[in-house]
Amino acid sequence: MAVYINDTCINCGACIDECPTEAIVDEDDNPTDEEYHYVYGDKCVECVGHHDVPACATACPTEGCIVWDAIGDSPEHREDITAEMRAEKANIIEE
Ligand code: SF4
Ligand code: SF4
Repeated sequence: MAVYINDTCINCGACIDECPTEAIVDEDDNPTDEEYHYVYGDKCVECVGHHDVPACATACPTEGCIVWDAIGDSPEHREDITAEMRAEKANIIEE
């Protein structure tokens, strides 16, 4: 993974167009068969080289349905995000 979309996603679609690496798919294409949007970790670069904060999380209207996750196969990741924040699936946008 890299960033993760949880089950509080309302499928508004706002994140998809913001992703510079086309890492996000909608509920119809979610490979886990869950009914919400999904981030392919092997495509998500956590917006390194594109934005200061993950653009998907900035665009998302919910309070924290896009969170930090384990790095996994992510081709790039933010060095300033701790393993603890990833393990807790901490909010990307702090309130
Ligand atoms: S963090 Fe950036 S690269 Fe990763 S899914 Fe969100 S918008 Fe795409
Ligand atoms: S912007 Fe947030 S609520 Fe909307 S589809 Fe993406 S993850 Fe779901």
